[in-house]
Amino acid sequence: MKKTFFAALSSVFVFSATTNNAQAQAFHEEQTSIEVFCSQWSKKLRTVKYDGCLDLHLKIADTRSSEKRLLTYKEFVPTEHNGEATRPKGKILFISGIHGDEYSAISITYLWMLAMQNNKNVRNHHWLFLPLTNPDGLFRSDPATRQNANGVDLNRNFPSPDWDDSALDFWEHYYRKNERRYPGPSAASEIETQWMVKTIERFQPDAIISVHAPYGLLDYDGPEHAVPSKIGVLDYRELGTFPGSLGRYAGEYLDIPVLTLELRSAGAMPKEKDIVQMWQDIEKWSNEKIRHLERDF
Ligand SMILES: [Zn+2]
Repeated sequence: MKKTFFAALSSVFVFSATTNNAQAQAFHEEQTSIEVFCSQWSKKLRTVKYDGCLDLHLKIADTRSSEKRLLTYKEFVPTEHNGEATRPKGKILFISGIHGDEYSAISITYLWMLAMQNNKNVRNHHWLFLPLTNPDGLFRSDPATRQNANGVDLNRNFPSPDWDDSALDFWEHYYRKNERRYPGPSAASEIETQWMVKTIERFQPDAIISVHAPYGLLDYDGPEHAVPSKIGVLDYRELGTFPGSLGRYAGEYLDIPVLTLELRSAGAMPKEKDIVQMWQDIEKWSNEKIRHLERDF
């Protein structure tokens, strides 16, 4: 009797383990193509179109998210002159979707990548877009989450030098353990953060632009030479930085200009003319203020 019971029990476990493995395997295979990524992206966000996403020819990074989803990127190199590659005036890293529930910020990045792809004007800078750095937050559940699959706010998980001393303490006392601001168990504990840090180290950007919502302002951290005035309807107003935020890590610690756009709504898109104006102002800011400067990383 006992034996039968254990045999039945173990067969249940074997069965469920097989099912889980098979599901995991199927999930993993499903996540290997840009077609699947574009399909999921366009189903989740009304602005993103499947064909438009495919036209971008996004590249697949060699790192996966915590739940093994694709991390993608797109490069735009400077315009060639007489068929020859041009030395970039500077390199700009565009980071989007750190917070998975800021739909407008992720959607506008898609539109601006398309605008850059279709723009026939001369391009002086080398651009690298990371359009969705927290895919688990956007895709894994409905509704989407600000944090990644481990419940970590990636914008508090960057390895700023004060992380060990301050990040968890700040979270406990300033945020009163608000789970939406959880910085993680240790600095750069999250694979998505590690990937962004590695990308910054490899690409060595002369500026970083990131898009968020919904504070309706323009924030800036970094050296004086690139302080902005206004981007479209967003006025410059300093938000300040936090232990483990991109602004504290890349702007204050690495001394890279970090421009942060905070759109006015996370759920609703800005008007079309505002979307166009913001992009024109970003290009103007880049052309006027961002050039390659030698630095030690
Ligand atoms: Zn955000």
